[in-house]
Amino acid sequence: MPVFSHAENYNHEQVVFCRKDEVGLKAIIAVHDTTLGPALGGCRFYDYASEADALRDVLRLSRGMTYKAACAGLNLGGGKAVIIGNPRTEKSEGLMRAFGQFVDSLGGRYITAEDSGTSVADMDFIRQETSHVCGVSKYAGGSGDPSPVTAWGVFHGIRAAADEKFGSPELEGRSVAVQGVGNVGMHLVRYLHEVGAKTVITDVDQERLEQCADEYGSEVVGLEGIYDAEVDVFAPCAMGAILNSNTIPRLKAKVVAGGANNQLDDIGVHGKMLQDRGIVYAPDYVINAGGLINVYAEIKHMPREKALRDAESIFHTLKRIFSLAKERGITEAQASNLVAEQRIRTIGTLQSFQRGGL
Ligand code: NAD
Repeated sequence: MPVFSHAENYNHEQVVFCRKDEVGLKAIIAVHDTTLGPALGGCRFYDYASEADALRDVLRLSRGMTYKAACAGLNLGGGKAVIIGNPRTEKSEGLMRAFGQFVDSLGGRYITAEDSGTSVADMDFIRQETSHVCGVSKYAGGSGDPSPVTAWGVFHGIRAAADEKFGSPELEGRSVAVQGVGNVGMHLVRYLHEVGAKTVITDVDQERLEQCADEYGSEVVGLEGIYDAEVDVFAPCAMGAILNSNTIPRLKAKVVAGGANNQLDDIGVHGKMLQDRGIVYAPDYVINAGGLINVYAEIKHMPREKALRDAESIFHTLKRIFSLAKERGITEAQASNLVAEQRIRTIGTLQSFQRGGL
């Protein structure tokens, strides 16, 4: 596979191939952009069909992290790592620590974290080899589960989108369909319940559904019924690519604002489709940045309260994105990319000026 042209397409700074046969480690670390700070992004452990698929994934995901951090106003760049293999059968202390040594060899240009296929316990192994890891256990000085902060950011993002569409950020009496009441979705339903919003929920996990309905009085609908729910807001909090040509025409909601990653099946096509239907869309990587804000607080040794306060600023970031989209006649997804790129350009100039002055 033509590695350099691939990395060039996304403008990556550095791509590192890591191999240690003794522990079965095959990993790729992608450092996309460090203009704003060290490249931070999770380490995914996944049984990719091919090495080319792994490379594509790490390049795409690391680029996404650059945009997420930039929009969230953090002094972080974007990076990501993938370990190739089956996490259930191939993971070991030796493998995770060997990966930690590769992370350490980058001298802080890349900071790793948990992602699908890796756990807090894995981060603790990595921590034994490098300090450039976050999301370690509380015992090892970590900040614990980020999902309450993610959900708090999503809650404030919904307020911003409601303000944009309905002229008021107040959610009392509004109805919100939450797809997936897992870690993020359940906290979100709680926050919505606390301000008097009505919630309609669905999940494949019956136990979680019942727990949520019992605690917060949510109305339960089927997995498909969530798209047709007569609500003001649709909040995807489960999987990606659920906003597509089949689902968008069915939505009754006038706002889409939720915590799931990669919600639009095709950013260009489906971002426009939402706009044409008059639906306000809160770009996923902007509204779900609370988790990243939380690990940033961990790195900076700031308390959870500070992370929660910073997650509230997602309200203002989204308002700015909505204004820019209207002003330029573009979709919200395009506007968020512009906001990220502009911040990187501006702060990049400041930092090089500072370096020049030293
Ligand atoms: P989770 O696994 O705890 O929750 C996902 C929930 O969705 C589960 O309860 C699952 O049963 C349910 N689900 C799965 N398939 C479904 C379907 N077809 N229909 C309805 N429900 C379904 O995950 P999470 O940590 O809550 O994350 C949710 C989403 O938010 C993911 O896309 C994740 O990448 C994203 N996200 C999470 C965080 C975080 O802090 N946890 C941060 C940023 C983004």
